[in-house]
This record gives sequence, structure tokens and C-alpha cells, in this order.
Amino acid sequence: MRYEDFYRASIDTPEAFWADQAKAIDWHRQPDTILDDSNPPFRRWFVGGETNLCHNAVDRHLAERADQLALVAISSETGLTREISYRELHREVNTFAAILRSLDVERGDRVVIYMPNVAEAVFAMLACARIGAVHSVVFGGFAAHNLALRIDDARPKLLIAADAGKRGGKVIPYQPLIDDACRQAQHPPPRVLIVDRGLDTNRRSVPGRDLDYATLRAQHDGTQVPVQWLESNEPSYLLYTSGTTGKPKGVQRDVGGYAVAMALSMWAIYDVRAGQVMFSTSDVGWAVGHSYNVYGPLIAGATSILYEGLPTNPDPGIWWQICAKYGVRTMFSSPTGIRVLKKQEASWLTRHDLSALQWLFLAGEPLDEPTATWISQGLRKPVIDNYWQTETGWPVLTLMPGLDLKPVKFGSPGLPSPGYNTRVIDEATGADAKPGEKGVLVIVPPLPPGCMSTVYNDDRRFVASYFSHFRQLLYSSLDWAVRDADGYTFILGRTDDVINVAGHRLGTREIEESVSTHPAVAEAAVVGVHDELKGQVPIVFATLKHAGADTAPALAMAMQQRVVDLLGGVARPARVYIVGALPKTRSGKLLRRSLQALAEARDPGDLSTLDDPNALEEITRILTRGP
Ligand code: ATP
Ligand code: MG
Repeated sequence: MRYEDFYRASIDTPEAFWADQAKAIDWHRQPDTILDDSNPPFRRWFVGGETNLCHNAVDRHLAERADQLALVAISSETGLTREISYRELHREVNTFAAILRSLDVERGDRVVIYMPNVAEAVFAMLACARIGAVHSVVFGGFAAHNLALRIDDARPKLLIAADAGKRGGKVIPYQPLIDDACRQAQHPPPRVLIVDRGLDTNRRSVPGRDLDYATLRAQHDGTQVPVQWLESNEPSYLLYTSGTTGKPKGVQRDVGGYAVAMALSMWAIYDVRAGQVMFSTSDVGWAVGHSYNVYGPLIAGATSILYEGLPTNPDPGIWWQICAKYGVRTMFSSPTGIRVLKKQEASWLTRHDLSALQWLFLAGEPLDEPTATWISQGLRKPVIDNYWQTETGWPVLTLMPGLDLKPVKFGSPGLPSPGYNTRVIDEATGADAKPGEKGVLVIVPPLPPGCMSTVYNDDRRFVASYFSHFRQLLYSSLDWAVRDADGYTFILGRTDDVINVAGHRLGTREIEESVSTHPAVAEAAVVGVHDELKGQVPIVFATLKHAGADTAPALAMAMQQRVVDLLGGVARPARVYIVGALPKTRSGKLLRRSLQALAEARDPGDLSTLDDPNALEEITRILTRGP
């Protein structure tokens, strides 16, 4: 099938298109109405239909693939690998669901899951889905404050956690974080179920509150818990946005629409079908983890690989070793992950048999051309950039090799996914930007199945945050973009990252890309700072691949020259700072907001999602000293 025809059908006749896609999942009751769009921007897909995510991800595969691997959970931190078949997954999930029921968790109740990237996190998610409880996974690397914020918003009946995580060989005990979060929260969960991995030997549980998973598992092992059939638009889960731009919002997802979107995206975009293997390096705590470590691959009847550990441990070939061992067909990672590998020898990419590997998908942040070229040449595999958001749950812009692969253009995530009526518009007039003209990326409602239904408990915030930027009712997360004559969209950064130099609007992304073409540069961050004369000027923070022979001033000049050569004198960075690390969120996103604030000697704001505080401290020091 041609991409063009498939996409056109999804926009011109959405009800017929999605009714057809809905056949890919099991329904307990068929929907009465495919789309109810009577109350925009809220829309309801598959109204009256009854289904269940756990049934579609687990039970329905038992007939044909009970002994096939469903989940492989590999930890290079503990050295353990767990290979779990669909039959075993079914048993674990039923047992977990029985535990939830024994703790009075009911349909519609929220359950917060605060876990490292281990199999039990997946069991817990699916067990919630099975009984109609609404899970809210909080990334295990978040601090107590983040956890408390999310607890107070979700008000869970239960918190499920592990005794500890492990990162780079270091044990990170969770109990102090849980205790602290429960103290900070206005609505602490009455019960905490602890999955004891035996990592934190000094742990002291709180009597009356904390429960031991292994004990309860032994009590309930083998119990069958019937699937709770849910109306398609009931909530399945909450997932808080990563918080690059302010207070996290509880993205609420539905049941039926999400299942259908997962099924479609697995074959059409990621080119993975039942029996094949997908490896996403994400943590289950992120949107990618939810969709492409858990629900997508399992709904498709594929094998999903979950990885706990650094990409460089025990050696920088670990990801490719996993690909070779399990015959991974599609791999999914982030540009940040690849940049970590880029600091290592390229020969690590070719030491394992990657004949099964067809595609490497990268998402989450701009994919700069040097990184894309390095990895695709190193692996000799196609690299596909895909653009989406926690809110959308699956790609908005991508190429679709499962359908027919259009040419890859580095720097662009490609073409709109089915159901996404995307446009690039002029911010002021709302008119379509011409090819080559910059504008804001918007989606004309209704949003397709799989996208968020609302902000949890806050319909007004849903409308205000996403649909109130323009005169017309258009969805936008305010990314700045440009479309070429072939319809490929290039993302230039967030609109609040646009730098206005003497009336010229420059995307931070364009400047970062130019700086990154310098061979010594590992990664660059560009922010605009106030300037008396020009309004704003760009400044650069760059990390280097190796501490090289060139002196910092010579390197800085060379980087400035690159920008002048590629973008013109107007984009010339006023200053270049060479730093050891860039400040990022735990999901690997650059905290540009904070960088800009520091550079303008303002308060860096909410740093609760910051990964490594040392990065900001170093930058503060350098800024006060000068480049
Ligand atoms: P928050 O919305 O809480 O401030 P966030 O936007 O960083 O945080 P995510 O939903 O994880 O949270 O990220 C989505 C954003 O990431 C997009 O809006 C876009 O700015 C950026 N992004 C994602 N994928 C790509 C990509 N392939 N190319 C360029 N930018 C991307
Ligand atoms: Mg966002």
C-alpha cells in the first residue's frame, strides 16, 4: 500500500479508516460509533466499544504463542536476564492482579508505579490494566519531590515500588525517597508494595504501610483474575510530561483508541509483527517505554526487550550484543543515547552480527545530522527520526517502512502519521506557511486514536495548554518547524527557544546543528540571551568528543565560523563556552530554559527533573569566569 493513499484515507474518511484499523484488536463489545466529535477539542474514539489492554497484550496471544518470548528483561547492573514467555507473563500478571484485588484496588482507582526498568514494572502495569485500575508510572530516577507532586495529583490507593535501583554500579535505595515523598505529599498512599530486589540490605520498611511483594506473590501465585471489560474511553493510564517547560501535566490516555493506535503503529511504522523482536532502550517511565516497551510490542504479539543499565556497560557494544543475541528487528533509542556511544570507538558498532536488525528509530529530541550520519554509517542500517510527544503517545511525524519507505532526509522526521492532520502555520496570521517558510507545527483536530484524552482532572488545562494558541481550534505543543516542497517537516526547536537577533528569527536547533558539524564537538546547546543592541544574541555551550590538542579559544572561533558559514553572520554566536556536560532532564532532554536563565543571571527555575546537578554548577562557575 502506498503511504500517500493510506494517509489520505485516514484524513478524508477517518471513520472508515479507523473502523478498519480497529479490527486489529479484540473487542468484547463492538463500538457503536467510531468517532464522537460533538464536543471539540475533546473527542471520543470507538464509543460504546468494550475492550481491555491486558487482554489484547497477553491473553489473546496464548492460543498461538504461549511459549514464545513476550518479554526479555536484561540488567547489566545486576547481571541478570529474565526471559518470559507469554504463558509466564499471563501467570505473573494474573498473580499481580490478584494481589491488587486483595488490596482493594478497584476499577478507576489510581496506582502509582515507581520502579526501575525491571520486569515487575511491566507486570504491575498490565495487572492494573487487567482490573481497570489507572496506572501512573513515575520514572524511578525521579527524586522525592517529583514523586510527591505526582502522588498528590493522582491520589493513588497504592504505590508500587522497588527496594532500589542501580545505575553505573551504584545502588540507589528507594525507601528513603518513598518515605520522604510520603511525608511531603498531602495525600500519601495508604499502602506501599515493595518489590525487594535484595539490593538495599539496610532497608527499614514502615509497619502497617509497606507490604512485601514476594510474600503476597507466593500467596496468590496461580490465581486467575478475570479481565475487566472497559468502555473504550475510560482512562487506562496517566503519564506526567517530562517537564522541560514547567509543572508536569497528567496526560490521560484511553483504552480502545490507544490499543488501536499501538496495533497500527507497530506494523506500519516500526515494521514489527507477531513473532518478531523489538528493542527499545527507553525506561518504562517514559512515553516511549509505555508504548514501545510494553503495550505496542505485546499487543502486536512480538517480543519486547527491556534493558536496565548504561549503554556502555559492560562495554559500549552491549546494545548490539543484545540485538545479535535475540535477533532484534527494530531498535528504538534516542539521539542522546547515540551521542553517548559516539564518544566511543565506532568499531563497537560492528563487532556483533546485526543481520536481523532492519531499522534504528530515534526520537525525543532533534536528531542532528552528524549523529545520524555517524550511527547509520557505523551500523550500515537505515536510521529513522520520529517526532512525537508524551501527549500523542505515538509518532506524529515519521517514515513508515512497514508500509512503504520514503527517502530518509536527515534533519527531518519525515511525513505525518495516519490520522495526524499536521500543518505548519504562520504564528500571527494562522495561514499555512509556504514551503521553506518557518512556522508553528499544529495538528488540526480531531486528534487520532491513541493521543491524550485530557489532562487528568483538569479539562480546562487541556484546552488552555494545547488548543488556545491560535484563533482557530488547533492543537499545538508549540514546536517551530519548516516544511519542504516534498512535504517533509523539519523541527527547529520549541517556539520559546527561537532567538530573535535584530529581527531575524533563528531556531536554536539550526545553530546547534551548525556547531555540531565541527568534528571536535560531541554536543551543543544554544540559547538566546538579552543584548542591548540586537535584542538577543545566541550563545553556545558545547561538549567535546575528546579533550583534544586545540585550545579552547581556537575551537570556539572555529565553531563560530561554522555557524557563519552555514547560516550567515546574523547567527554568529556571541560567546562559546566549552563545558564538561550539558544540563539535561532524566529523560535526556536539554534544560534550555535553565541554561538561558543562568546565562542571563536569572534564577534557573524548577530543577526537579535535572539529571546531574554538577552540570549546572560547572556552567554557573564558567559563566561567572567568562569563556
Ligand atoms: P514538557 O511538555 O513537560 O515541557 P517535553 O515536551 O520535553 O516536556 P516530551 O513529551 O517528552 O516532553 O517531548 C516532546 C517534545 O520533544 C516535542 O514537543 C519536541 O519539542 C521534542 N521532540 C520529540 N521528538 C523530536 C524529534 N524527533 N525531533 C525534534 N524534536 C523532538
Ligand atoms: Mg511538551
